Amino acid sequence: MREKRIMNYRELFSGIEEKIQLEDGSYRVAINLDNAATTPPLKKVDEFIYTNILMYGSVGRGGQKSHYCTQAYEISREEILSFFGISKEDGYTTIYVKNTTEGINLLSNILCRDKTTKVLVTRMEHHANDLPWRRAAQTFYIEVDSEGKINLDELENKLRRSIGTISLVSLTGASNVTGYITPIYEIAQIVHRYGAKLVVDVAQLVAHRAIQVKGTGKGDHIDFIVFSGHKMYAPFGCGVVIGPKEIFDLAPPYMIGGGIVTAVFDNDVYYKRAPEKEEAGTPNFLGAMAIVAATTVLQKIGFEAIEKHEKALTIRLISGLSQYKEVILYGDQRGERVGVVPFNIRGITYDKVGEFLEKKCGIAVRTGCFCAQPYVARLLNISDDERYQKMQDFNATMPGMVRASLGLYNTEEEVDTLIESIGKLIGGKK
Ligand code: PMP
Repeated sequence: MREKRIMNYRELFSGIEEKIQLEDGSYRVAINLDNAATTPPLKKVDEFIYTNILMYGSVGRGGQKSHYCTQAYEISREEILSFFGISKEDGYTTIYVKNTTEGINLLSNILCRDKTTKVLVTRMEHHANDLPWRRAAQTFYIEVDSEGKINLDELENKLRRSIGTISLVSLTGASNVTGYITPIYEIAQIVHRYGAKLVVDVAQLVAHRAIQVKGTGKGDHIDFIVFSGHKMYAPFGCGVVIGPKEIFDLAPPYMIGGGIVTAVFDNDVYYKRAPEKEEAGTPNFLGAMAIVAATTVLQKIGFEAIEKHEKALTIRLISGLSQYKEVILYGDQRGERVGVVPFNIRGITYDKVGEFLEKKCGIAVRTGCFCAQPYVARLLNISDDERYQKMQDFNATMPGMVRASLGLYNTEEEVDTLIESIGKLIGGKK
């Protein structure tokens, strides 16, 4: 066993000491290595929710509780902006949505006039940052190399060739498949040089790295960011879109209904301005409070410490898995990444690996394509023709991988248990 040198953050979290029953009837504390899907909550987040549920009232409606909630909800917008180094004075606003998926659907709806709008995305996107653009606009793609990385020359060439016609570039801040971190500030400079706007899906980045939306005044600011609370140690049901208030003010609202109008006549409707204009229906007050609580804790721990912890675990996991010649690791093992590690084992299908880890070892990982089929197919070097053929064949396993993804509460022991379990699975096969 190697020397232990990293911090232990388990005390800060709830829901991580629960025991589960394994196939052989024994019980063990579940190991969650599927943080890229969803993270357990911070204790401070739970506490904040319990405190606020006592004062639970409808935002923007009547009564004392409603006034308390309305005020706290409006302040929370500012607190979220400050987490990203910006404020209302910078022209940005916070819009609460259900999750990243809804946030990107909102943006695609209000930023794309019709199919003549040209949007540049990448082949590494989660379906949530690909399909809404495909439906609302004409999409162009930046390809990925065999390690799943994009090339900034290709980005620049595509923008240069279409100067002025590609109005928007949307890409992920960190991949939910390879953990690859995209150089968002460098990308922002290129995008702005060609007069386009930049949307960054920070669902996988927000709990792992500090994000500076404002930039340094050299065109490296980010125009829009989108994320979900449930990937940053807050619960499901609330996400955030941040962007320039003026753009939301000028665009037609995405969803319409109560809470977003100033006047409704028989034949005419007047809408409020952003952010209210984009939040039809009763807002998710507790969801917003939970996200603010999570940002407060993450800030207190500090992203330097978070990054250090995650890097140590990621390196341990990658080097542990690399000792098995049967393991194929995907992506770039040296570059800037978050703790998302995709792999396969030669001769054992990914679903069998997932089943073994869950039922025999009590370890949760994710298997398949992680809602990023075009990206996974490229990493596996499988063409669309081959995938179409497999789709016709009921007995064929669709291409996929196993993904282990780390959170702040994971420990070296948990990583070692995964590595040892993979060793047992490979050994048992021989
Ligand atoms: N983008 C990325 C990079 C993601 O990892 C995910 C979730 N796996 C999403 C978007 C979608 O998030 P949600 O399901 O919360 O809408």
